[in-house]
Amino acid sequence: MQIAEDFDVVVIGGGPGGSTASTLLAMQNHRVLLLERDKFPRYQIGESLLPATIHGICKMLGLSEELKKAGFVRKLGGTFRWGKNAEPWTFNFSTASTISAPKAYAYQVERQKFDTMLLRNAARKGVDVREQHAVKSLLFDGDRVCGVEFVDTDGNTRIANAMYVIDASGHQSHVYKHVGERIYSNFFQNLALFGYYEGGDRFPAPRDGNIFCAAFEEGWFWYIPLSNTLTSVGAVVSKQYVDQLKVGHEEAMNRFIASCPEISRLLANARRVTEGVYGELRVRRDWSYTNERFWKPGMVLVGDAACFIDPVFSSGVHLATYSALLAARSINSILTDEMDEDRCFEEFEKRYRREFRNFYEFLTAFYDMHQHEDSYFWKARKILKTEASMQEAFVTLVAGGSSMGDEELLVDNKKIEQIKGELQVLENVDEDAAPYFSAEKEAFLDVLVEEATQIQTQASVGSKRGAEKPLFENGLIPSADGFRWREATASSTAASGM
Ligand SMILES: Cc1cc2nc3c(=O)[nH]c(=O)nc-3n(C[C@H](O)[C@H](O)[C@H](O)COP(=O)(O)OP(=O)(O)OC[C@H]3O[C@@H](n4cnc5c(N)ncnc54)[C@H](O)[C@@H]3O)c2cc1C
Repeated sequence: MQIAEDFDVVVIGGGPGGSTASTLLAMQNHRVLLLERDKFPRYQIGESLLPATIHGICKMLGLSEELKKAGFVRKLGGTFRWGKNAEPWTFNFSTASTISAPKAYAYQVERQKFDTMLLRNAARKGVDVREQHAVKSLLFDGDRVCGVEFVDTDGNTRIANAMYVIDASGHQSHVYKHVGERIYSNFFQNLALFGYYEGGDRFPAPRDGNIFCAAFEEGWFWYIPLSNTLTSVGAVVSKQYVDQLKVGHEEAMNRFIASCPEISRLLANARRVTEGVYGELRVRRDWSYTNERFWKPGMVLVGDAACFIDPVFSSGVHLATYSALLAARSINSILTDEMDEDRCFEEFEKRYRREFRNFYEFLTAFYDMHQHEDSYFWKARKILKTEASMQEAFVTLVAGGSSMGDEELLVDNKKIEQIKGELQVLENVDEDAAPYFSAEKEAFLDVLVEEATQIQTQASVGSKRGAEKPLFENGLIPSADGFRWREATASSTAASGM
């Protein structure tokens, strides 16, 4: 006979999404079981973080001090060789009016260290964390999800009943299918080939901790300093170039590097790591998608289980931890304050989609601004965008409905043009004349960084939270401590103009 245990919430997956959600629930005294298939530390890509994760979410999780001591590389912003300008240009988080100066940085992290820190913290905060426990299926009461079936370390099949299940199992697992279909983007259809290098060069301080993104003929590179000597390097190319990997990953990577002068220069004296967890050249593809729904009765999706767009502006961990916060807020409100499930999860989904859409539109504009018309990769992005949008609009229209997912993939072209204009002004900054942005450029930077980091302020919750406006009609607002939802007062609703 199978052993059954009872919990308030079962969380599937111990990445940043799962750890964050489970911790924020346990901190409100709920009984939480987190099941993680692997043994931590385990490898994961996604090393460049945003300030919202560090100063918003990690602060709520009680991790600020531990993070400071961990010795991760400080990231003050991003440096880009992108668009018309042959010279690299830089944006700093500090130029966003929404981010206070002391918090205008994030970290570049070795994910196995960062994720383990989050997972161990979850256990300390009262989550029942079980590694090497893989969820095999969901339990249902009618249409409602009410638990999971999983396999423990000894290979025994067991059951955990729960009021709620959070799927934070990332891009690989198929649990999400119980909630809805995954809709892949027509615009972002790339693959990445990536590895690790010792001894790569650094930009001069204060840019030495920045992520560097360099466009080249077939796509673009990321160059992320993980320590004084270790660098994560990845080539993102259109999946049409998949044949170029046939020569072998090593050869393909060397060819990509050779065709990108900036990355070649930075790696001139470096050697690729060939042993240990960083010793492999890895490939990832099919990462740009959104699920048509993010919840169903008894269950929510967070992080990569729900959606991901593209690595260029480091939105992955941020969207994972932010959605985890929204999910935890909702479940805390339902379990503690007996708030209505539909209402809470609708607020969760609307806010999550809003941020996904903001990034999607921003990233579409960012890709679209690239001027190298002669390159197939960049030309294809433009063509795909136009055709995909019209095609999707048409199909959505004639199909007589617009699912949430379809709407997500229909981008707001007017907004994209506006963002693109702002980006092009930024990109034309003469770095020699103004190595660290001159005051007159800051207005544009503000808009840029605000788009890219808008969520930082939303996720960023201090001990005191000022009066807030609902984001949507009849919407909810976060409680003062950020752990739950509460009803908007008449005055906050009036202030929002609703
Ligand atoms: C090429 C590339 C580059 C990227 N670069 C960045 C970047 O620079 N910055 C950034 O922020 N993001 C980046 N990302 C995105 C980032 O990797 C993800 O968004 C992030 O890891 C999502 O976190 P998560 O918690 O949702 O999922 P994950 O980190 O994938 O964690 C999911 C966990 O669930 C576990 N699991 C899976 N199935 C089961 C099961 N059945 N039972 C139990 N456990 C299970 C897995 O073992 C895993 O530990 C990048 C992505 C790609 C593809």
